[in-house]
Amino acid sequence: MRPTYDSDTATFRQTIRDFLNANLPADWEGIGALGANEAHHFANDVWRPVLAEHGYLAPAWPVEFGGGGLSELEQVILVEEFSKVGAPRGGSNDQFGITYCGNTILNWGTDEQQAEFLPKIISGEYVFCQGYSAPNAGSDLASLTCRSEPDGDEWVINGQKVWTSSAHHANWVFVLCRTDSASRVPIATSSSCDSSGCGRSPAGSEVPSPIRARACSGCSGASTTAGSPNSRSTSSVPR
Ligand SMILES: Cc1cc2nc3c(=O)[nH]c(=O)nc-3n(C[C@H](O)[C@H](O)[C@H](O)COP(=O)(O)OP(=O)(O)OC[C@H]3O[C@@H](n4cnc5c(N)ncnc54)[C@H](O)[C@@H]3O)c2cc1C
Repeated sequence: MRPTYDSDTATFRQTIRDFLNANLPADWEGIGALGANEAHHFANDVWRPVLAEHGYLAPAWPVEFGGGGLSELEQVILVEEFSKVGAPRGGSNDQFGITYCGNTILNWGTDEQQAEFLPKIISGEYVFCQGYSAPNAGSDLASLTCRSEPDGDEWVINGQKVWTSSAHHANWVFVLCRTDSASRVPIATSSSCDSSGCGRSPAGSEVPSPIRARACSGCSGASTTAGSPNSRSTSSVPR
């Protein structure tokens, strides 16, 4: 297949090429030429801030939230040009913060939620991981037993998460929790995993919401625990 582009896209393509030429190291041979630690350092500490500054970290997001405000065709061209030179399009947790959680907030979040979360995801202040899988609830997510219960204007999460990739780099986790024990379908909420320990945020008035609850999570390797069963004390959970 040979896709064709309107002639006016050539200018944008050149803009991306110029950006890559100007900002990648002179001896750049692609991210695959670097060792694992070096690649992680480059993608997260060196390249990610450059992408954020130019609006290329979340090219589809509105400029007001730190995105690039690019059209769909411009996004395709950006991906093509980045791919040709092996340039990463984000850091290790951006698939969670931007692709999964951020896009959900962009589509379903309130104005307040968008203003709070999206710029901080771009800046790197909020770094997300994904807390969907749980013991005995991998492919069959509807089996999960992690619970989220309202307590005043907060939600308290009790349960365990596993397979939490890159949790050791994150300070937030978006989780699936069961808010109705009679329901076979778990309700999605999001929780913070804050390095200082437990945190709980105000609950909204309606369920579901993409960013409803906060809880401390132990982000140690493959196991993340949000609270102890039937307990609100999460401060002892290792991170
Ligand atoms: C490298 C890696 C990173 C991951 N990162 C994350 C993460 O960041 N966050 C997160 O939430 N999860 C993460 N996961 C978890 C991943 O989403 C789960 O592994 C996945 O959901 C499968 O769950 P399981 O391993 O418990 O296998 P199971 O669900 O126990 O499945 C075992 C086998 O049974 C089969 N099977 C299961 N159910 C059925 C069915 N109904 N019919 C037919 N066959 C079935 C499966 O295909 C599989 O072959 C990660 C997994 C890996 C391997």
